[in-house]
This record gives sequence, structure tokens and C-alpha cells, in this order.
Amino acid sequence: MKYDYLIVGSGLFGSICAHELNKKGFKILVVEKRNHLAGNIYTQENNGIQVHKYGAHIFHTNNKLVWDYINRFAEFNRFTNSPIANYKGKLFNLPFNMNTFYQLWGVKTPDEAYRKIEEQKKVFHIEKPRNLEEQAISLIGKDIYEILIKGYTEKQWGRKATELPPFIINRLPVRFTFDNNYFNDKYQGIPIGGYTQIIVKMLEGIDVKLNTDLFENKQKLLDSAEKVIFTGPIDEFYDYQYGALEYRSLLFENEIINEPNYQGNAVVNYTEYEIPYTRIIEHKHFDYVETEHTVITREYPKDWKIGDEAYYPINDDKNAKLYKKYKELADRETRIHFGGRLAEYKYYDMHHVIDSALKFIDNLKL
Ligand SMILES: Cc1cc2nc3c(=O)[nH]c(=O)nc-3n(C[C@H](O)[C@H](O)[C@H](O)COP(=O)(O)OP(=O)(O)OC[C@H]3O[C@@H](n4cnc5c(N)ncnc54)[C@H](O)[C@@H]3O)c2cc1C
Repeated sequence: MKYDYLIVGSGLFGSICAHELNKKGFKILVVEKRNHLAGNIYTQENNGIQVHKYGAHIFHTNNKLVWDYINRFAEFNRFTNSPIANYKGKLFNLPFNMNTFYQLWGVKTPDEAYRKIEEQKKVFHIEKPRNLEEQAISLIGKDIYEILIKGYTEKQWGRKATELPPFIINRLPVRFTFDNNYFNDKYQGIPIGGYTQIIVKMLEGIDVKLNTDLFENKQKLLDSAEKVIFTGPIDEFYDYQYGALEYRSLLFENEIINEPNYQGNAVVNYTEYEIPYTRIIEHKHFDYVETEHTVITREYPKDWKIGDEAYYPINDDKNAKLYKKYKELADRETRIHFGGRLAEYKYYDMHHVIDSALKFIDNLKL
């Protein structure tokens, strides 16, 4: 047996595990089925612009340990996520804050805005929301729901808001200040030079095989190490024996444009249903780079089937029950561990993954 650990997947979870275990002196092999490192945080340079190939990734956290940890691998800039919503050609600031309320209703004080929202919420007398539409209106009122939530959510989920369960929206944060910062976290930014370098640094000195799918050589690869950390889809590992866990997927349409500034902001959401994409990302605004050209990506939500890229887990009862069955199988394994967003069937932000990977390594008590 050549390796102490086989790590399947070079995303953030697998790479942190590889890095930490390598530091402890273990011999590691990382296999990655894609032709590049870094999983979904992969960024690829296009003449000076770092393109986020699997959707816009903005790092944010309240956890100082996590922030200090990731800063060991890259310097971060001061990017603050302040998305714009475009509804039928009109622009609104997000998240919902005093700027948005002024743009919607002309209200100028927090008190006026508060009263306007309360008035809107009351009109429909919804006591027990039966679907997402009723839930959103009961939380925020009709105008914001119809202009900024309805079309976007219906595109995202591929279903009418009246057919979606209310729990998808538990809370709709509103801010009665003129503050367009999307996140409330203490730390936020984008690594200068992109995310891929972080993973490259983590994996320095470690054996890595790209274009290597575990399932094309499963037994041989599993036998090449004493222990295994698997970060791919848990249902695939067990050959979908109870059926496939469901996801929503995305299609990214990239365009290079010969002008320096296309939309003046990194993220513009398109909230009307009739426009098929949910947002346009203009990558250069994450890095404040000056180039003669720009790269934009239109993001189209789509249904998922086995073989497609899995992006957002569908956390309803049916999938929760199915995941539990796979988790029971995983818990019985003695030398195979499962971690990361696909193996745990969980929507994880990057800071969650870092926290979870570091705790996982601690719990191995090596
Ligand atoms: C559209 C989108 C936008 C996001 N934006 C943000 C954001 O703004 N901020 C934020 O904090 N988080 C964001 N995230 C979340 C972030 O992408 C994840 O937290 C993180 O990438 C998860 O890392 P991971 O290692 O668990 O999974 P992954 O990055 O998916 O890594 C798993 C790796 O395993 C490989 N693999 C799978 N199966 C096999 C196999 N059979 N053999 C070999 N290799 C295999 C895959 O190819 C992949 O490289 C976003 C996610 C999405 C989908």
C-alpha cells in the first residue's frame, strides 16, 4: 500500500484535508476527475481577468480562525458584494435597504419605510402561509415580492412560487440603513489573483492526478491507500442504490466583450421571469482590474439529471430521507470518510467548508 490517504476531489474540502494531513507527515494521493484543480472555486485567467468558472464566489465570514486560515494562502482585496437588481429596465439596490425603499416608493426615512412595509404586509391578511408566495408577501409585502423576488425565485427553482414550499424563505432580512453591503459578516473579500492559487499552494508537494475519476478504477484506487476521504456525491459512491439525490443545476454562458466596462458592477440580478437568466456576472469588478476588454457570464438555472454538474441540493423531506439512508451506509465504513458539499449533500459556503474540514481533521485525533 503506497499512500496513507487517498483524497477524492481537489475542491476546498479535499485540498484542506490533503494539506493538513501532509503537514502531519502522511503520504497523500489526490485524484480529481476534472482537468483542473480547485473544484467549484476554480478561477481561470483571461488576459488579466480572473473568471469564476463555476459561478461568482465571494468570500465572507464572521469566523476569525477561518479568515486567518484562508489568508495564509492568498492576499484578499476589500471587495464588498453590492448586487443590483434589474426589473424591466429599472435598477434597485440589494439587499433590501433604505436605497431600495427609496427607489421603490420614494420614502426617505426609516420610519416611513417601516410603515410602508407593514402596510403592504397587512393587505393580504396571511396568517399561515401555504406556499412561497404567501410566505414572502407576509414577510415583506407585495411590491418587493413582485418586483424583486417572484420572477427570480421562479427561474431559480423552475416552478411557480405558488407551487414552492414556504420554508425556502425563512427570513427576508431588511435593513433600515442606506447600506448596500449584501453580507453582514465581519470579513469579506476576493483573493487577489483568484482562488485557484489557494488550492495550488495547499497541494504543494502532494501527489495529484487530474482527469482521474474514482469510479473508472474504483477498487484499485481505494486499495492504493490505507484510508480514503471522498468529497464527491455520496449517492454516486453507493451506485445510486436507493435512487439519486436531487439538485438544481446551472448553465454558464460566457462572453468576451471588447469594451472596458459592461455593467459597472460585479453582479446584476435580473428579477423578471421573462429574462431566462438570473444574473450577469462581470468578473473584472471582483478584482478592480483595468483592461481594454471585459468578460461576462450569464447564469441560467436548469433542471439536473445524473451526469450534469450538481450545484444546489434540494433540501426537501424526500431528499433528506434519501440522504439519511446513504449516511447510514457511510457511517458503517471503517476506512472511508465523507466530507464536503457533495458527500454531505449540503449547501456549504466556502467558510463553512473550511470550518468543517479543519474540524474533521481535528476529530481524526492524529
Ligand atoms: C453557483 C455557486 C456560487 C457559489 N458562491 C459562493 C460564494 O459566493 N461564497 C461562498 O462562500 N461559497 C459559494 N459557493 C459555495 C462553494 O462553491 C462551496 O462551498 C465549495 O466550492 C465546496 O467545496 P467542496 O470541496 O465541498 O466541493 P467541490 O468544490 O465541488 O469539490 C469536489 C471535487 O470533487 C471532484 N470529484 C467529484 N467526484 C469525483 C470522482 N468520482 N473522482 C474524482 N474527483 C471527483 C469534483 O470534480 C470536485 O473538484 C457557491 C456555490 C455555487 C454552486
